[in-house]
This record gives sequence, structure tokens and C-alpha cells, in this order.
Amino acid sequence: MRTFFLLLVIGSLMAAPGGDMVSTSAGNVKITPVLHGTVLIEIEDRAWYVDPWSRADYSSLPKADVILITDIHGDHMDPKAIAAIRKADTRIVGPAAVAKTVTEIKILANGETTELHGVEIEAIPMYNVQRGPAPGKLFHDKGRGNGYVLTVGGKRFYFSGDTEGVAEMRNLKNIDVAFVCMNLPYTMPPEEAADAVKAFKPKVVYPYHYRGSDLKVFAAGLEGQGVEIRERKWY
Ligand code: ZN
Repeated sequence: MRTFFLLLVIGSLMAAPGGDMVSTSAGNVKITPVLHGTVLIEIEDRAWYVDPWSRADYSSLPKADVILITDIHGDHMDPKAIAAIRKADTRIVGPAAVAKTVTEIKILANGETTELHGVEIEAIPMYNVQRGPAPGKLFHDKGRGNGYVLTVGGKRFYFSGDTEGVAEMRNLKNIDVAFVCMNLPYTMPPEEAADAVKAFKPKVVYPYHYRGSDLKVFAAGLEGQGVEIRERKWY
């Protein structure tokens, strides 16, 4: 009897979620905010990472089955972080600009789709329209980087990457869970992010990649819209 209860306690500790669960027809998806733009998504027994960055500690996190990379900047494409979580059969997906640095990568261009482990991956444009390091220059040029929509067992997960509130984001359809960036000067302010989210109305939104932004402004911009805002610890 004692052993039984001990096993019960151990079992419940092991099942203790370090993240949020989303149920899909293909099983539960567990979401773990890691750091800044780094997200861990566990789909059944597979670990999917978006933009692993080496400023996070991966020692207690699972090795990657899939790594999605959005762009070339260090907080998104980080060979050191990839090395920390890569195993022999890790699959990596990213835009062509990333393939110059990261080898053995499946290249996906804006608008293209592919499938891995039963999950559909669609590359969504991410770019600046007005913000850049100097007049006439943009931090993220259209066509270079990818946001992603993953379709898992009928549920759709969107990762914005570094972008302003561009038309391709505003026109997204049927998004269940969205990860949306906001930070100046590189992407957009929280009011612009809220306005873009208002346009495509995901069921749930996680502000991420928001260092230095006021999430209260983001929440105020979405008041009464029926979008659940999940603030989590990213820093
Ligand atoms: Zn970034």
C-alpha cells in the first residue's frame, strides 16, 4: 500500500506540468516558455524548439526532435544552442538565409509548407515595414525570415518571429495559439502588436520576445476582444 502511494506521488510529480497543455486530436501539446523568443513545444513524446538561444539553460530540457529557426539574428539562429539540444536524428527547418550557417537544414521559403512527424509546417512572412537601423534600411527584410504556423491534430499554433504587424499576420485564419513578438526598435510596440492580434483573433495569445515592452499596453489594446492573453515568465 505504502509503495502504491509512493508511486502515486512520484507519478504525479513526473506529470507536473512545467508548461501549459493544449489538447488536440493528435494528443496533448505542452508549451514551455524558455527565454525571449525561445519556445519548447512537446507534441506527444517529441520536443520541438523554436529559435533556441544559448542564453537559456537546456540542461534540464529534452533534446530536440525538431528545431524551427526564424531568422539569422543571434537570438534566433544560435549554433551553440543548436549544438546543446541536437541529437543524431534532429530535423532542422529554416529559411535559406539560415542555411549558410546551419547545415543539414530543410529550407522553407515564405508561403511554403512541409510536414514532419505528422505536423504541417507553414512558413509565414515576417519583416519590418518601417523600422530599421538607418534611413532606408530595415531590421528584417521581407522574404528573409519565416514565422511559422504548425497544424497539430487540428489545432493551429503561430510563431511570429521578428516582425511588425504585417498583412500576412493580420490575415491569418483559425489560429488557436499565437506567439507574438513586440519590442522596439526591432519589431513593434505593444499597441501595434495588439492591433495586429485583434485583426486575426487567435483564441490564445502569448506575448513573447517582448523585452522592455509594457504588456499592460498590449492587454489594454485587446480588452473585450475575447482573446485570452497568457503572460508567462520569459526573462
Ligand atoms: Zn529577435
